[in-house]
Amino acid sequence: MKCPKCGSSHIRKNGKRGDKQNHICADCGRQFIDTYSVLGYAQDIKKICLKMYCNGMGFRQIERCTDVSHNSVINWVKDAAKQLPEHPPIETITLGGSYK
Ligand SMILES: [Zn+2]
Repeated sequence: MKCPKCGSSHIRKNGKRGDKQNHICADCGRQFIDTYSVLGYAQDIKKICLKMYCNGMGFRQIERCTDVSHNSVINWVKDAAKQLPEHPPIETITLGGSYK
C-alpha cells in the first residue's frame, strides 16, 4: 500500500468509510480508501525521479525539476535499492547523489 499522492509507504489506518478501510499518509496527510488506484501519477513521477537519479542528478536538482520533496526521492531510491539482490549500503546515498 502506497500513498497515491507522494508514493510514501508510511500509511496508517484511519477508520472506515462505509465498508471500506480508510487510510491516511503519515508523510503528506492524504486520505484514501484501499480500492484507490495507486498506479497513477505517483508511480509515474516516482519512475521519472529514479531515472533522473540514475542519470546522475542530485536529489535537490530532482526536487527543483519535479516539485517532489527530496525526502520522498531519497525514500524511493532507498526502496529501489532494497529491491536489488546486492544493494549498495544505504549510507552511500547522500544529498549530492552517488554518481559524481
Ligand atoms: Zn503521502
